[in-house]
Amino acid sequence: MKLVKRIANLGYGSRKQVAALFREGRVTDAAGEVLYADDAVGHEAIRVDGEPLDPPPGLALMLHKPTGYTCSTKDAGRLVYDLLPPRFRLRDPLLSTVGRLDRDTSGLLLLTDDGALLHRIISPRANVVKRYRALLAEDLRGDEAAVFAGGTLMLDGETTPLAPARLDVLGAREAELAIGEGRYHQVRRMFAAVGNHVVALHRVAIGGLTLGELSPGTWRALGTDEIARVF
Ligand code: URA
Repeated sequence: MKLVKRIANLGYGSRKQVAALFREGRVTDAAGEVLYADDAVGHEAIRVDGEPLDPPPGLALMLHKPTGYTCSTKDAGRLVYDLLPPRFRLRDPLLSTVGRLDRDTSGLLLLTDDGALLHRIISPRANVVKRYRALLAEDLRGDEAAVFAGGTLMLDGETTPLAPARLDVLGAREAELAIGEGRYHQVRRMFAAVGNHVVALHRVAIGGLTLGELSPGTWRALGTDEIARVF
């Protein structure tokens, strides 16, 4: 693919605007030498206004989602995309969230422009386990772990029972739930089905991938070794 199109696809502007960046000498190599639109040069070597180019297609990143942000591209309120560089909204291929977290849920959210990777992670066949920490309005009854592990729990409005899930009780009103499925509002609905109410929900892990030291509202690109930890 031509350099102008490659850079335009990263959200730096239309092809016309990127061609202008070349004419203005704003696209250089790492040593500051001006690059021309027909130069053959690797991604890592390119600078725009002295800054390394954004990551190439095939990008996967983790975001520490705070509460109050939605996983939509066009909701009225605050969007998870507002936490990323504005250029990322304009990338082609588009960056999509890997599944969704509710507006009031915090924690680990993945985004990628790699459609095959996205489908591999969310595919029910992959059975990637997501771990959630829940704070509850009522004390746990004591039978929830057995109910969730049973594989017979039916959520309101659904026709198939939930697959077995693992509950670890952390306190009277605090627990960690590990689920392989990703049904709509699943965790909140599971606790509702056992007579409780989730007051705060945080996704701790997707497969073996956790947020580590990443602060709320921040993100970082993932290496292939980290992506492999999901499966
Ligand atoms: N289950 C929920 O209820 N909400 C989420 O955001 C994720 C899982």
